[in-house]
Amino acid sequence: MKTKVGIVGYGNLGRGVEKVLQYHDDLELVGIFTRRDPDSLDTASRAYHMDALEKKTNDIDVLILCGGSATDIPETAHMYAKNFSTVDCYDNHRDMPNHFKRMNEAATGGENVSIIGTGWDPGVFSVQKLYSEALLPNGESYTFWGPGLSQGHSDAVRRLDGVKLAAQYTMPSSEMIKEIEDGRDVSYDKFSSHHRVVYVVLEEGADADIVRESIITMPDYFEPYETEVHFISESEYNKNHTQLRHGGHVIRRGYTGDNTHTYKTTLDLDSNPEFTASVAVACARAAKRFMDARQFGAKSIFDIPPMYLLNESRESLIERLL
Ligand code: NDP
Repeated sequence: MKTKVGIVGYGNLGRGVEKVLQYHDDLELVGIFTRRDPDSLDTASRAYHMDALEKKTNDIDVLILCGGSATDIPETAHMYAKNFSTVDCYDNHRDMPNHFKRMNEAATGGENVSIIGTGWDPGVFSVQKLYSEALLPNGESYTFWGPGLSQGHSDAVRRLDGVKLAAQYTMPSSEMIKEIEDGRDVSYDKFSSHHRVVYVVLEEGADADIVRESIITMPDYFEPYETEVHFISESEYNKNHTQLRHGGHVIRRGYTGDNTHTYKTTLDLDSNPEFTASVAVACARAAKRFMDARQFGAKSIFDIPPMYLLNESRESLIERLL
Protein backbone atom coordinates (compact mmCIF):
# COMPACT_ATOMS: atom_id res chain seq x y z
CA MET A 1 0.00 0.00 0.00
CA LYS A 2 1.25 3.47 -0.86
CA THR A 3 2.05 6.04 1.82
CA LYS A 4 -0.50 8.85 1.62
CA VAL A 5 1.00 12.33 1.69
CA GLY A 6 -0.68 15.72 2.17
CA ILE A 7 0.91 19.09 1.38
CA VAL A 8 0.21 22.03 3.71
CA GLY A 9 0.88 25.36 2.00
CA TYR A 10 1.32 25.84 -1.72
CA GLY A 11 4.27 28.16 -2.28
CA ASN A 12 7.61 27.29 -3.90
CA LEU A 13 8.22 24.39 -1.54
CA GLY A 14 4.66 23.05 -1.79
CA ARG A 15 4.90 23.08 -5.59
CA GLY A 16 8.29 21.34 -5.30
CA VAL A 17 6.82 18.54 -3.15
CA GLU A 18 3.97 18.08 -5.61
CA LYS A 19 6.47 17.72 -8.48
CA VAL A 20 8.92 15.44 -6.63
CA LEU A 21 6.25 12.98 -5.43
CA GLN A 22 5.79 11.72 -9.00
CA TYR A 23 9.27 10.11 -8.80
CA HIS A 24 8.37 7.94 -5.78
CA ASP A 25 6.26 4.89 -6.63
CA ASP A 26 5.50 4.09 -2.99
CA LEU A 27 4.14 7.56 -2.12
CA GLU A 28 0.95 9.22 -3.31
CA LEU A 29 -0.38 12.75 -3.01
CA VAL A 30 -3.75 12.88 -1.28
CA GLY A 31 -4.22 16.62 -1.56
CA ILE A 32 -2.91 20.14 -1.14
CA PHE A 33 -4.23 22.18 1.80
CA THR A 34 -4.13 25.97 1.66
CA ARG A 35 -5.34 29.00 3.58
CA ARG A 36 -6.41 30.53 0.27
CA ASP A 37 -9.34 29.69 -1.96
CA PRO A 38 -8.30 26.20 -3.22
CA ASP A 39 -9.80 26.95 -6.65
CA SER A 40 -7.36 29.85 -6.99
CA LEU A 41 -4.32 27.50 -6.98
CA ASP A 42 -2.74 26.76 -10.33
CA THR A 43 -2.57 22.96 -9.95
CA ALA A 44 -4.04 19.81 -11.44
CA SER A 45 -3.87 18.06 -8.02
CA ARG A 46 -6.76 17.95 -5.57
CA ALA A 47 -6.71 21.14 -3.48
CA TYR A 48 -8.69 21.82 -0.31
CA HIS A 49 -9.09 24.65 2.16
CA MET A 50 -7.10 24.10 5.35
CA ASP A 51 -10.37 23.68 7.29
CA ALA A 52 -10.94 20.36 5.48
CA LEU A 53 -7.85 18.85 7.16
CA GLU A 54 -9.54 17.95 10.43
CA LYS A 55 -11.74 15.41 8.62
CA LYS A 56 -8.75 13.81 6.84
CA THR A 57 -6.91 12.23 9.76
CA ASN A 58 -7.67 8.71 8.46
CA ASP A 59 -6.79 9.53 4.85
CA ILE A 60 -3.28 10.90 5.36
CA ASP A 61 -0.16 9.14 6.66
CA VAL A 62 2.21 12.13 6.57
CA LEU A 63 1.70 15.86 6.13
CA ILE A 64 4.59 17.79 4.59
CA LEU A 65 4.46 21.27 6.10
CA CYS A 66 5.49 23.75 3.41
CA GLY A 67 4.75 27.02 5.19
CA GLY A 68 7.34 29.72 5.77
CA SER A 69 9.81 29.52 8.62
CA ALA A 70 9.35 33.12 9.73
CA THR A 71 5.88 32.62 11.22
CA ASP A 72 3.94 29.68 9.71
CA ILE A 73 6.06 26.84 11.09
CA PRO A 74 6.76 28.18 14.62
CA GLU A 75 3.11 29.23 15.08
CA THR A 76 1.25 26.29 13.52
CA ALA A 77 3.43 23.17 13.04
CA HIS A 78 2.80 21.80 16.55
CA MET A 79 -0.96 22.02 15.99
CA TYR A 80 -0.73 19.73 12.95
CA ALA A 81 1.57 17.38 14.87
CA LYS A 82 -1.19 16.58 17.37
CA ASN A 83 -3.30 14.93 14.67
CA PHE A 84 -0.87 13.98 11.90
CA SER A 85 2.67 12.76 11.38
CA THR A 86 4.62 15.63 9.85
CA VAL A 87 7.79 16.60 8.03
CA ASP A 88 8.94 20.22 7.97
CA CYS A 89 11.77 22.26 6.47
CA TYR A 90 12.00 24.78 9.30
CA ASP A 91 15.23 26.69 8.82
CA ASN A 92 15.68 28.83 11.94
CA HIS A 93 18.82 27.11 13.28
CA ARG A 94 18.83 28.98 16.56
CA ASP A 95 15.20 28.12 17.37
CA MET A 96 15.62 24.42 16.50
CA PRO A 97 15.89 23.18 20.12
CA ASN A 98 12.58 24.94 20.98
CA HIS A 99 10.98 23.66 17.79
CA PHE A 100 12.08 20.11 18.62
CA LYS A 101 10.56 20.45 22.10
CA ARG A 102 7.22 21.86 20.83
CA MET A 103 6.94 19.19 18.13
CA ASN A 104 7.99 16.38 20.45
CA GLU A 105 5.28 17.22 22.97
CA ALA A 106 2.60 17.46 20.28
CA ALA A 107 3.66 14.38 18.33
CA THR A 108 4.20 12.20 21.38
CA GLY A 109 0.80 13.20 22.78
CA GLY A 110 -0.92 12.36 19.49
CA GLU A 111 1.09 9.17 18.89
CA ASN A 112 2.52 10.72 15.74
CA VAL A 113 6.00 11.27 14.31
CA SER A 114 7.40 14.71 13.38
CA ILE A 115 10.62 14.96 11.44
CA ILE A 116 11.91 18.50 11.84
CA GLY A 117 14.42 20.69 10.02
CA THR A 118 14.72 18.67 6.80
CA GLY A 119 15.95 20.14 3.50
CA TRP A 120 19.57 20.89 2.64
CA ASP A 121 20.49 23.34 5.40
CA PRO A 122 19.32 22.37 7.90
CA GLY A 123 19.17 18.84 6.61
CA VAL A 124 21.74 17.31 4.24
CA PHE A 125 24.48 19.73 5.37
CA SER A 126 23.75 18.91 9.02
CA VAL A 127 24.27 15.19 8.35
CA GLN A 128 27.51 15.87 6.47
CA LYS A 129 28.78 17.99 9.37
CA LEU A 130 28.00 15.17 11.78
CA TYR A 131 29.76 12.54 9.66
CA SER A 132 32.81 14.69 8.95
CA GLU A 133 33.24 15.63 12.63
CA ALA A 134 32.81 11.99 13.70
CA LEU A 135 35.39 10.77 11.17
CA LEU A 136 37.88 13.62 11.54
CA PRO A 137 37.71 14.70 15.20
CA ASN A 138 41.04 16.53 14.94
CA GLY A 139 40.24 19.36 12.54
CA GLU A 140 38.07 22.31 11.70
CA SER A 141 34.80 22.81 9.79
CA TYR A 142 33.60 25.48 7.40
CA THR A 143 30.19 26.06 5.84
CA PHE A 144 29.60 28.36 2.90
CA TRP A 145 26.20 29.13 1.41
CA GLY A 146 25.56 30.48 -2.03
CA PRO A 147 25.87 32.44 -4.11
CA GLY A 148 22.14 31.86 -4.24
CA LEU A 149 18.67 32.97 -3.35
CA SER A 150 17.61 32.04 0.18
CA GLN A 151 13.87 31.30 0.35
CA GLY A 152 13.77 31.58 4.13
CA HIS A 153 15.40 35.02 4.18
CA SER A 154 13.33 36.22 1.22
CA ASP A 155 10.19 34.99 2.98
CA ALA A 156 11.19 36.78 6.20
CA VAL A 157 11.63 40.08 4.31
CA ARG A 158 8.35 39.63 2.42
CA ARG A 159 6.53 39.39 5.77
CA LEU A 160 7.62 42.93 6.76
CA ASP A 161 5.10 45.80 6.54
CA GLY A 162 5.63 47.83 3.38
CA VAL A 163 7.32 45.02 1.39
CA LYS A 164 5.61 43.81 -1.76
CA LEU A 165 8.31 41.52 -3.20
CA ALA A 166 11.77 40.57 -1.99
CA ALA A 167 14.73 38.42 -3.03
CA GLN A 168 17.65 37.78 -0.69
CA TYR A 169 20.99 36.54 -2.00
CA THR A 170 23.55 34.91 0.27
CA MET A 171 27.08 35.67 -0.96
CA PRO A 172 30.03 33.59 0.31
CA SER A 173 33.57 34.92 0.48
CA SER A 174 35.18 33.28 -2.55
CA GLU A 175 38.62 34.45 -1.34
CA MET A 176 38.18 32.52 1.90
CA ILE A 177 37.04 29.33 0.11
CA LYS A 178 40.15 29.54 -2.06
CA GLU A 179 42.38 30.04 1.00
CA ILE A 180 40.90 26.93 2.67
CA GLU A 181 41.27 24.87 -0.50
CA ASP A 182 44.90 26.02 -0.73
CA GLY A 183 45.47 24.75 2.83
CA ARG A 184 46.04 28.19 4.31
CA ASP A 185 44.86 29.17 7.80
CA VAL A 186 41.77 31.40 7.81
CA SER A 187 39.88 33.25 10.47
CA TYR A 188 36.40 31.86 9.79
CA ASP A 189 33.04 32.59 11.32
CA LYS A 190 29.79 32.31 9.40
CA PHE A 191 29.07 36.03 9.74
CA SER A 192 32.33 37.43 8.35
CA SER A 193 32.56 34.78 5.61
CA HIS A 194 29.27 35.82 3.97
CA HIS A 195 27.31 38.92 3.24
CA ARG A 196 23.68 39.35 2.29
CA VAL A 197 22.19 41.34 -0.59
CA VAL A 198 18.44 42.10 -0.58
CA TYR A 199 16.34 43.42 -3.47
CA VAL A 200 12.99 44.86 -2.34
CA VAL A 201 9.91 46.11 -4.18
CA LEU A 202 8.05 48.43 -1.81
CA GLU A 203 4.28 48.67 -1.37
CA GLU A 204 2.99 52.03 -2.52
CA GLY A 205 3.62 54.71 0.15
CA ALA A 206 6.00 52.52 2.22
CA ASP A 207 8.97 54.20 3.90
CA ALA A 208 12.24 52.82 2.48
CA ASP A 209 14.33 53.82 5.53
CA ILE A 210 11.99 51.99 7.94
CA VAL A 211 12.00 48.87 5.74
CA ARG A 212 15.82 48.94 5.42
CA GLU A 213 16.21 49.29 9.21
CA SER A 214 13.73 46.43 9.86
CA ILE A 215 15.74 44.19 7.54
CA ILE A 216 19.26 44.88 8.74
CA THR A 217 18.30 44.64 12.43
CA MET A 218 16.23 41.41 12.08
CA PRO A 219 17.78 39.02 14.62
CA ASP A 220 19.01 35.59 13.46
CA TYR A 221 18.24 36.29 9.80
CA PHE A 222 20.28 39.48 9.14
CA GLU A 223 21.88 40.89 12.27
CA PRO A 224 25.00 40.69 12.55
CA TYR A 225 25.67 39.95 8.84
CA GLU A 226 26.80 42.78 6.58
CA THR A 227 23.64 43.44 4.56
CA GLU A 228 23.04 45.56 1.46
CA VAL A 229 19.44 46.56 0.69
CA HIS A 230 18.43 47.74 -2.80
CA PHE A 231 14.99 49.06 -3.70
CA ILE A 232 13.90 48.14 -7.24
CA SER A 233 10.84 48.28 -9.47
CA GLU A 234 8.45 45.36 -9.88
CA SER A 235 9.45 44.96 -13.54
CA GLU A 236 13.15 44.72 -12.62
CA TYR A 237 12.27 42.15 -9.94
CA ASN A 238 10.31 40.04 -12.43
CA LYS A 239 13.10 40.28 -15.00
CA ASN A 240 16.11 39.52 -12.78
CA HIS A 241 15.09 38.02 -9.43
CA THR A 242 12.75 35.07 -9.89
CA GLN A 243 15.35 32.28 -10.34
CA LEU A 244 15.67 29.98 -7.31
CA ARG A 245 19.23 28.65 -7.77
CA HIS A 246 21.24 27.94 -4.62
CA GLY A 247 23.87 25.67 -3.14
CA GLY A 248 26.97 25.71 -0.99
CA HIS A 249 29.81 23.76 0.57
CA VAL A 250 30.46 21.97 3.85
CA ILE A 251 34.20 21.51 4.27
CA ARG A 252 36.09 19.76 7.08
CA ARG A 253 39.87 19.76 7.16
CA GLY A 254 41.11 17.01 9.48
CA TYR A 255 44.55 15.87 10.53
CA THR A 256 46.03 12.47 11.42
CA GLY A 257 49.64 13.23 12.34
CA ASP A 258 51.29 15.01 9.39
CA ASN A 259 48.54 14.02 6.93
CA THR A 260 45.66 16.33 6.04
CA HIS A 261 42.26 15.04 4.85
CA THR A 262 39.60 17.22 3.26
CA TYR A 263 35.96 16.10 3.47
CA LYS A 264 33.93 18.34 1.20
CA THR A 265 30.25 18.20 0.27
CA THR A 266 29.02 20.51 -2.46
CA LEU A 267 25.43 21.11 -3.50
CA ASP A 268 24.79 22.94 -6.74
CA LEU A 269 21.04 23.29 -7.09
CA ASP A 270 19.13 24.54 -10.10
CA SER A 271 16.06 24.80 -7.88
CA ASN A 272 16.39 25.31 -4.14
CA PRO A 273 12.71 24.44 -3.42
CA GLU A 274 12.70 21.33 -5.60
CA PHE A 275 15.82 19.94 -3.91
CA THR A 276 14.50 20.89 -0.46
CA ALA A 277 11.25 19.16 -1.40
CA SER A 278 13.22 16.09 -2.51
CA VAL A 279 14.71 15.78 0.98
CA ALA A 280 11.34 16.35 2.68
CA VAL A 281 9.68 13.67 0.54
CA ALA A 282 12.36 11.05 1.36
CA CYS A 283 11.87 11.99 5.03
CA ALA A 284 8.10 11.46 4.66
CA ARG A 285 8.88 7.83 3.83
CA ALA A 286 11.06 7.67 6.95
CA ALA A 287 8.24 9.16 9.05
CA LYS A 288 5.96 6.33 7.92
CA ARG A 289 8.61 3.76 8.87
CA PHE A 290 8.87 5.30 12.36
CA MET A 291 5.06 5.19 12.62
CA ASP A 292 5.01 1.53 11.61
CA ALA A 293 7.61 0.87 14.32
CA ARG A 294 5.47 2.90 16.81
CA GLN A 295 8.47 5.14 17.56
CA PHE A 296 6.45 8.29 18.18
CA GLY A 297 7.64 11.85 18.87
CA ALA A 298 9.87 14.39 17.15
CA LYS A 299 12.93 13.23 15.22
CA SER A 300 15.78 15.21 13.76
CA ILE A 301 17.45 14.17 10.54
CA PHE A 302 20.20 12.62 12.72
CA ASP A 303 17.68 10.15 14.15
CA ILE A 304 16.73 8.68 10.77
CA PRO A 305 18.34 5.33 9.96
CA PRO A 306 19.65 5.90 6.39
CA MET A 307 17.74 2.80 5.24
CA TYR A 308 14.44 4.45 6.12
CA LEU A 309 14.97 7.00 3.32
CA LEU A 310 14.86 4.57 0.39
CA ASN A 311 12.10 2.24 -0.71
CA GLU A 312 14.38 -0.79 -0.72
CA SER A 313 15.13 -3.77 1.52
CA ARG A 314 18.24 -4.05 3.69
CA GLU A 315 19.36 -7.09 1.65
CA SER A 316 19.10 -5.21 -1.61
CA LEU A 317 20.90 -2.15 -0.21
CA ILE A 318 23.76 -4.30 1.13
CA GLU A 319 24.09 -6.04 -2.21
CA ARG A 320 23.89 -2.85 -4.25
CA LEU A 321 25.53 -0.10 -2.23
CA LEU A 322 27.75 -1.58 0.49
P1 NDP B 1 6.63 30.78 -0.01
O1 NDP B 1 6.62 32.18 0.46
O2 NDP B 1 6.62 30.49 -1.48
O3 NDP B 1 5.37 30.01 0.64
C1 NDP B 1 5.10 30.06 2.01
C2 NDP B 1 3.60 29.99 2.22
O4 NDP B 1 3.01 31.21 1.76
C3 NDP B 1 2.95 28.89 1.41
O5 NDP B 1 2.93 27.69 2.14
C4 NDP B 1 1.56 29.43 1.09
O6 NDP B 1 0.61 29.05 2.09
C5 NDP B 1 1.77 30.95 1.14
N1 NDP B 1 1.81 31.48 -0.24
C6 NDP B 1 2.63 31.07 -1.24
N2 NDP B 1 2.38 31.76 -2.37
C7 NDP B 1 1.40 32.65 -2.06
C8 NDP B 1 0.71 33.65 -2.79
N3 NDP B 1 0.95 33.85 -4.07
N4 NDP B 1 -0.21 34.39 -2.14
C9 NDP B 1 -0.47 34.18 -0.83
N5 NDP B 1 0.14 33.22 -0.08
C10 NDP B 1 1.06 32.47 -0.69
O7 NDP B 1 7.87 30.07 0.70
P2 NDP B 1 8.76 28.88 0.12
O8 NDP B 1 7.87 27.77 -0.29
O9 NDP B 1 9.72 29.44 -0.86
O10 NDP B 1 9.62 28.45 1.39
C11 NDP B 1 9.01 27.87 2.53
C12 NDP B 1 10.04 27.65 3.60
O11 NDP B 1 10.92 26.61 3.22
C13 NDP B 1 10.98 28.86 3.82
O12 NDP B 1 10.45 29.75 4.77
C14 NDP B 1 12.25 28.21 4.30
O13 NDP B 1 12.36 28.35 5.67
C15 NDP B 1 12.08 26.73 4.01
N6 NDP B 1 13.26 26.24 3.30
C16 NDP B 1 14.11 25.40 3.96
C17 NDP B 1 15.25 24.95 3.33
C18 NDP B 1 16.13 23.96 4.02
O14 NDP B 1 17.16 23.59 3.44
N7 NDP B 1 15.82 23.49 5.21
C19 NDP B 1 15.65 25.39 1.99
C20 NDP B 1 14.64 26.22 1.36
C21 NDP B 1 13.52 26.65 2.01
P3 NDP B 1 -0.95 28.90 1.69
O15 NDP B 1 -1.03 28.00 0.49
O16 NDP B 1 -1.56 28.32 2.91
O17 NDP B 1 -1.44 30.28 1.40
